[in-house]
Amino acid sequence: MENCPDNFAHKYYLLTAEMAIIDDAPIDTVDVLFRKALESIGSNDFIQFRALCNELYGKFWLAKGNNTIAALYTREAHYLYQQWGATGKVAQLVKQYPDYLKVSQEYRGLTGISSYTTQSSIDMVSIIKATQAISSEIKTDKLLTTFTKTIIENAGAQKGFLLLKNEHDNKLYIEAKKTEDNDQPQVMQSIPYTQSSELCPEIIQYVARTKKTIVANNACSEGSWRENPYIAENKVKSVLCMPVIYQTRFVGIVYLENNLSDNVFTLERLEILKILSTQAAISIENAMLYENMEERIRERTAQLDKANEKLRELSYHDPLTGLYNRRYTFQFISKRVESFIKNKRRLLDNNERRDFSAADNVIGIFLIDIDHFKDVNDTYGHAAGDATLVLISNLIKQMIRSDDYLVRWGGEEFLIILFDTKREYLDVFSKEVLVKVRETPFKVSDSITIHKTCSLGCVDMPVDSANPDLLNMEQMINLSDYALYYAKKHGRNCGAHFKLKENVKLDEYIIKDLMDIRTSKKVIEEYFNIDIMI
Ligand code: GH3
Ligand code: MG
Ligand code: MG
Repeated sequence: MENCPDNFAHKYYLLTAEMAIIDDAPIDTVDVLFRKALESIGSNDFIQFRALCNELYGKFWLAKGNNTIAALYTREAHYLYQQWGATGKVAQLVKQYPDYLKVSQEYRGLTGISSYTTQSSIDMVSIIKATQAISSEIKTDKLLTTFTKTIIENAGAQKGFLLLKNEHDNKLYIEAKKTEDNDQPQVMQSIPYTQSSELCPEIIQYVARTKKTIVANNACSEGSWRENPYIAENKVKSVLCMPVIYQTRFVGIVYLENNLSDNVFTLERLEILKILSTQAAISIENAMLYENMEERIRERTAQLDKANEKLRELSYHDPLTGLYNRRYTFQFISKRVESFIKNKRRLLDNNERRDFSAADNVIGIFLIDIDHFKDVNDTYGHAAGDATLVLISNLIKQMIRSDDYLVRWGGEEFLIILFDTKREYLDVFSKEVLVKVRETPFKVSDSITIHKTCSLGCVDMPVDSANPDLLNMEQMINLSDYALYYAKKHGRNCGAHFKLKENVKLDEYIIKDLMDIRTSKKVIEEYFNIDIMI
């Protein structure tokens, strides 16, 4: 030993370490001896011894219950035995430590601690696998998770952080972190790094400023970071802090720590980390572009939906008066009418007499036409005619409830549908409309005020309470139009209300004739009472 320390020092320390284990010496004592053993090997020729040392060191930590370090050293031993060509030993290790060596097989040469590796040991297959895993993620959060996990595995770090530069304020934010406390990386929390107590802010600042990589191998006991408060307080051993550069642009920082071992982050690892983090920078940029694009598409779709909604609204309204139009009537009002009638049929079938008053309710259907409206246009001009139509529609609108409907049915014709009303009320309402239109002066311009009258046709739906689905909404509007015609014939400025005579029954043949303009008059006069309202 004294004569040739280079050849024997490592054996001596390893032996003493093993003896210390047997003597149940404190962990620190054994730890120092193992590390001295490893340090004193020094040259490549002792690869088998280095392998043995790592194996025993791993075993020691396993016995102490520290799986993380045990795994690191066992993987390293496995790797070194493989390098040496001791296939039997490699197989034995795999059998003995299947959990540790599953990962190691996959990232052979990249994981575990390694202070001795050659360039040839970079396993390109593993790197390609890792970069593919990173680049296949299209969602930023998943990408950050995959990247952080991959980089920690490949670097043999205990904890790792990915900081990204915010485009707007140019500051660095922690976008992903993985510590020993959490199984999964935490991502997308955008925490300013200065607020984190889990990394060394001064090192981050230094790397951000200089764009240089820092690799500290025994940070708390040697080198310029020794007195840094964070490093000293946390007894940080290995630190790696590396700028992530993409196309000469500084996009972020990778920060890794291992407080259990020094010399964890070697030059070879650095190369791998650079490849991985550049890959990640590209992928993150892509993912963010993709998400921005998604966001933009969402915005555009919302705008489009809004525009479509507006178009839809417009297509159901009359532009002059803002009232509903025929389209709306057949699209929506008819459905409400149908369900009203269906409900009536149900009440009838169930003979629910306790609800008889509700069963008695009807829908009132009115068609109103302004009398001699052509005269307004002819006398005062088309604009005055338009203004009159708006004023009249506003007037009628005020007379109906919010769940009734006023529709501009044609030029100067309006359809009113009153829901859930009483048969007696139809006449009352008709008279109110006639009187209101007749008595209201319509001021169509500063100098012109006109008076108009209207005629009105009215029917109640169902025409026959005992047979509610006899006529549909469209047929009922037709019938109301006949009534309007009767009012016009009666001299205008009045209303006509068609009421089915008592003890008569309409059948489909009668209805066919009723709907035919050539035969309707006969049917109406035979089956309906026509009440004229003034
Ligand atoms: P009556 O109904 O009493 O038989 O007479 P009328 O003059 O109202 O007859 P008709 O229904 O034949 O004429 C309707 C007129 O209403 C024709 C048209 O000039 C006018 N009109 C229709 N729509 C509009 C409109 O949007 N603006 C204006 N200014 N006039 C319209
Ligand atoms: Mg008219
Ligand atoms: Mg008309």
